[in-house]
Amino acid sequence: MKKNRVARKSSRKKSTKTSIDITIYQDLENIQVHEKRFHNKASESYLDVTFSYEKDDKWEGSIPIEYRRTGTELSDISEIKKHLLQSYDHCQANKRREWLVEQEKFWRANKAKADVTKSLFDALTNFQWTCIPCKFPNNPNWARRNQDLKELGFTIATYPKKHCNQCGKKTTHLILVPLPRGGITGYEAWSPKTREKIIETLKIYDVYEGKVGKKESLLPDHKFPEIRWDENTRRNQEAINNLTDEEIIKDFQLMTNQRNLQKREVCRQCYQDNLRPYPFGIKFYYEGDENWPNNIPKNGKDAEKGCIGCGWYDFEKWRNALNQKIADFVEVHES
Ligand SMILES: [Zn+2]
Ligand SMILES: [Zn+2]
Repeated sequence: MKKNRVARKSSRKKSTKTSIDITIYQDLENIQVHEKRFHNKASESYLDVTFSYEKDDKWEGSIPIEYRRTGTELSDISEIKKHLLQSYDHCQANKRREWLVEQEKFWRANKAKADVTKSLFDALTNFQWTCIPCKFPNNPNWARRNQDLKELGFTIATYPKKHCNQCGKKTTHLILVPLPRGGITGYEAWSPKTREKIIETLKIYDVYEGKVGKKESLLPDHKFPEIRWDENTRRNQEAINNLTDEEIIKDFQLMTNQRNLQKREVCRQCYQDNLRPYPFGIKFYYEGDENWPNNIPKNGKDAEKGCIGCGWYDFEKWRNALNQKIADFVEVHES
């Protein structure tokens, strides 16, 4: 409580650091969270992090958790952890290179925009904190260019008063974060009408409890966990508004908010450890075993194959398969 008051008091300053309880992030391997910073002028907030990878590859920078240009607005701790894990994946050296190749294509296709804004972009492609007065002496236009880049969907974090080793002053530094343009995939947002339709189509059946539940307390859950989505997984709004019964039955199940949060947590853990979870401590998979198959990509549509067989992925299928096993066993042993 006290911590929050302190943060609010100083929130009028241009930028504020908050000491956060970093122990909450300790379960994230190879991710160090140093502090949370607010950049009030831009209404952005970041976590300053160090990501460590194999072969001494490191990335130090800021991951925005509030960044309105890409619709990023995270407050729930498990959401933030998920976001950090996905960002971690995007920021490693080979992904940074791939990302740059991708952006060069974008610039070639958008030559008109490139004319004015690309010089700032190019100055930031080392993906490190860059002192703006050192890079652009006597150029007041960088702020406008920064806005332009953000509007194009790039993620750029600001450090308003950071010590620069080159000029020795405390200056504005920017860092380009190699996240997908437009940000990491958010959620599919459905209207109350669509939500109602999904719940009706799935017959108000709570898959966790294995029985009909209460309409008000059930949520549509994507069988395929969002942490494994990539920028091509999310349906566009029109497709969401026009889901067919078949699509609903194939892609969704219903559970309470509490179970949905629990699922997010176990799916995040699985994403991190490559060990598939199992409900109720019952180590049963209707396909595969505890190990996330290493020939399946971790993200994107093909990753869904790695989820098949896990109880959290399709509770009803898991329950039916388990019941069948028990029935078979009883039959063999009683005849
Ligand atoms: Zn400098
Ligand atoms: Zn979901």
